[in-house]
Amino acid sequence: MQQNKTKVIIAGGGTAGWLTAYALAKRLGSLLDITLVESDQIGTVGVGEATIPTMRSFHQLMEIDEREFMRATQATFKLGIEFNNWGGVGESYVHSFGAIGQTTWLTEFHQYWLAANAQGFGGSLEDYCLELKAAKASKFALKAGKTPVNYAFHLDATAYAQFLRQKSEAIGVNRVEGKIVETKLNPSTGDIQSLQLDKNRELNADFFIDCTGFRSLLLGEALNVEYENWSHWLASDSAQAVQTKSTEPPIPYTKATAHSAGWQWKIPLQHRTGNGIVYSSQFCDDAAAQKTLTEHLSGDTLTQPRVIKFTTGMRDIAWKKNCVAIGLANGFLEPLESTSIHLITTALIRLMRLFPFAGNSAPLADRFNRETRFEWEAVRDFIILHYKQTRRDDSDFWNYYRTMAIPESLAHRLELFKEQGYVWPDAVNLFRVDSWIQVMMGQGLFPESRHGAGHILPPQALQAQLEKLKAFVANNLAQMPSHSEFIAQYCAAT
Ligand code: FAD
Repeated sequence: MQQNKTKVIIAGGGTAGWLTAYALAKRLGSLLDITLVESDQIGTVGVGEATIPTMRSFHQLMEIDEREFMRATQATFKLGIEFNNWGGVGESYVHSFGAIGQTTWLTEFHQYWLAANAQGFGGSLEDYCLELKAAKASKFALKAGKTPVNYAFHLDATAYAQFLRQKSEAIGVNRVEGKIVETKLNPSTGDIQSLQLDKNRELNADFFIDCTGFRSLLLGEALNVEYENWSHWLASDSAQAVQTKSTEPPIPYTKATAHSAGWQWKIPLQHRTGNGIVYSSQFCDDAAAQKTLTEHLSGDTLTQPRVIKFTTGMRDIAWKKNCVAIGLANGFLEPLESTSIHLITTALIRLMRLFPFAGNSAPLADRFNRETRFEWEAVRDFIILHYKQTRRDDSDFWNYYRTMAIPESLAHRLELFKEQGYVWPDAVNLFRVDSWIQVMMGQGLFPESRHGAGHILPPQALQAQLEKLKAFVANNLAQMPSHSEFIAQYCAAT
């Protein structure tokens, strides 16, 4: 039976808009008639260059060839993030994407390591994580021996949107260039009926996806969905981004360096480096932030620093009536753990699973909204951890964060870790145990006691096990080529 296609309009063509267009066309294209409207005059936010490993699964699902994607976006590989000056000035740790050591059914690896350390052996936790060691040695491979390496990418955001646009148009997405001047609602149902464009054009659809960025023209402005402000927990409201020439071969990790009133990112691409500073106008003005940013750049600047203002938080609901917001139109969390593009891709998978083919559905929308909230709050807590878990007292900024009240969900996590090193594997939380422990211990939070598991084995047997694990990592690391050698060879191949 031939079914009429559901008409979908995507408002906005940034990373969110074009990811949405491509995913819907690729996977539901036979059921949907998709139009994307964007305005070159308005442009995109133009940042968003660091990702996390889930992007690989998304690309696989969407049949995006990794080499083609890397060539188009001048991408490099990413094995984690190096955090400098967060726990204390002069301190540094890496939050890698790798698994650390080996877990058992009873407990996680760090408990065995803590027991070893208490008995005077075991060395550094870093020695048990291949991705972390490879990041520091600037090495990379997709696999080390038979072990798959867990990686993500650094990419050129503008090139990524163009890449997705080409792919989307090739599989039937219609693109309309124009400025949305009004969102028209159906007076009886309150649904969105059409978008009024400049030059007297009008676009009708059954379902609308708001990807208009911070403006949130459809969900926020037209449908009046309130914004839940989280800036009491994450006070930054400003960023400045600037591109520089590369001064060294690209390293396979992002750098996040804390300053006295904010933090600075450094993202190495094949052809240039992305840099930026995130700060709170409560503690630092734009001029002072720009001075700090430029003082810490290496390499000649290719662009002028550009100020971007934001409010951390999310819309009360992402889906209302016949409209769902994806990307910045739904909310913003600062890019400390590079989670925004991930949140776009999970929203898309959720939308495709819950798509309202039979017309508006309150239960489907409700399910979507519950899952979205849970996911965003979990990411929010993980980002707050980086600020709260500090011993820095050298500025009003750090004094604010060190002493602020935190969400109950995070307080519960910290209490359990402090007590006995307990971190639970939470199936629906993006961040795994390895992530939580790397950041907590990286910032100086060590448990006061530990699980007894590490004392079940006699010390010599435990030590032998740990030595074996370390040797496994060291041997695999020795076989990996340098990051730049790997990129050159990988991107050259078809
Ligand atoms: P935008 O890029 O703003 O796109 C909005 C679109 O809507 C544009 O096409 C625009 O033309 C269109 N539009 C708006 N109004 C109209 C209108 N009236 N008519 C027609 N079209 C209209 N994410 C990561 O994953 N990793 C990172 O490292 C990272 N770093 C970031 C750093 C900063 C400082 C910021 C602010 C964000 C960062 N992000 C990061 C987030 C990431 O940039 C965004 O999630 C991503 O770019 C998606 O943006 P978007 O498509 O929602 O919005």
